[in-house]
Amino acid sequence: MKYKRILLKLSGEALMGDRQYGIDPKRLAEYADEIKQIHAKGVQIAIVIGGGNIFRGVAGASNGMDRVQGDYMGMLATVINGMALQGALEDAGLPTRLQTALKIEAIAEPYIKRRAVRHLEKGRIVIFGAGTGNPYFTTDTAAVLRGVEVNADVILKGTRVDGIYTADPEKDPTAVKYDTLTFNDVLKKGLNVMDTTAFTLSQENELPIIVFDMNKEGNLARVCDGEVVGTTVNV
Ligand code: UDP
Repeated sequence: MKYKRILLKLSGEALMGDRQYGIDPKRLAEYADEIKQIHAKGVQIAIVIGGGNIFRGVAGASNGMDRVQGDYMGMLATVINGMALQGALEDAGLPTRLQTALKIEAIAEPYIKRRAVRHLEKGRIVIFGAGTGNPYFTTDTAAVLRGVEVNADVILKGTRVDGIYTADPEKDPTAVKYDTLTFNDVLKKGLNVMDTTAFTLSQENELPIIVFDMNKEGNLARVCDGEVVGTTVNV
């Protein structure tokens, strides 16, 4: 495998499957299968999961809710998703640990970098919940932050689109996909890969990002094997 230690970022919405809200157990089981394939090949796997299928702080604020309160609710939503994914991975026979940026000791370990690294070395899949633990951030930023902290080789952003395009492929049929881009290309062309905070953190630390279609069977293993799947952003 090209990548020995990965940080996989999954959005909360990805867990909805065909639903409008919440978690689709079938989708969870499919993701667990994909993750099992790379685990069997010895890849060390850290996962950050979003919460958009349940709650987003910005959405709450636009309805008059206090933003900080809403953001903590969003962070808790990521813990719910993390627990669901942990359950699905365990059903698939995989060893896991959930670590959260907000302490919820009855269900998860607190985030401790050294401990997370030790779990990874022992082949345990580590899910990071509650984002960065701070309001006004996103789980994309949490993914890059944790990726840098645990020294991951790459951030794998699993989405329902198969990479970065010249325009939104769901709206513009003439849009063309990029195989590779530099961080500077992304900025110059004004492309949307991650929010600015996440993107800058990745660029500053020279941590490559691969955007790929997580819903295509076998894709995660292909990406880890170094096949040109999706779009790679690098220095
Ligand atoms: N959130 C936060 N700080 C973080 C990460 C997440 O406040 O470090 C909150 C924020 O309200 C966000 C919500 O959690 O809207 C869910 O995360 P996100 O929107 O990144 O999830 P995704 O879009 O990946 O499903």
